[in-house]
Amino acid sequence: MLLAEQRRLLCEYGRRAAETGLVVGTAGNLSARAGDLIAVTPSGISLDRLEPEACPVIDVEGHLVEGDLQPSSETPMHLAVYTTTDARAVVHTHSTFGTVVATTMTELPPIHYNTLLLGGTVRVADYATFGTPELAANVRAALKDRRAALLANHGGVTVGDDLHKAFEATRLLEWLCEVYVRAKSVGEPRVLTEEQLSAVVQRAFSPPRFPRRED
Ligand SMILES: [Zn+2]
Repeated sequence: MLLAEQRRLLCEYGRRAAETGLVVGTAGNLSARAGDLIAVTPSGISLDRLEPEACPVIDVEGHLVEGDLQPSSETPMHLAVYTTTDARAVVHTHSTFGTVVATTMTELPPIHYNTLLLGGTVRVADYATFGTPELAANVRAALKDRRAALLANHGGVTVGDDLHKAFEATRLLEWLCEVYVRAKSVGEPRVLTEEQLSAVVQRAFSPPRFPRRED
């Protein structure tokens, strides 16, 4: 079986996405790349009952290489990422708070410094019908220099060096969106300034070192 490990991981993270409420039913898809091949979740199957053999393998041009089922309808979006970046995994969901922000805003501003883990302010890709090359192009533009993007009136997408990183980016994106939405219900969320964000980067590069106690 081609890409056996990637297909196993698609099932593992697909199940986790369903169990943690990031996806409902068949709404969501994941993929992982190895060389010129990509394992992707199939169309029309709930992520919580996936088996590795059910996940098709395609090449970077979108030809079906192995598997009986059709790849996810959002495969053009996954391919747009793989053909223009060095990402090795893509996770797409219709998570609740991500979709709320994607339906009302043009970007998710940096209200928490962990936004930097996604590359900064998260852009909302212009709306286009699901599965179309137009949506794929809009998402590719929104993902420039980012690990996450929101899709207007649709959901969110994250990329990573592997499925674990892409999945964790999806969890972080959803958390940031939830914090924003909840903060907005209390007052106007303060947005971190460029200066505050660069101070975070500085701090991350030179963390404090605690000297060992001399006994
Ligand atoms: Zn979708």
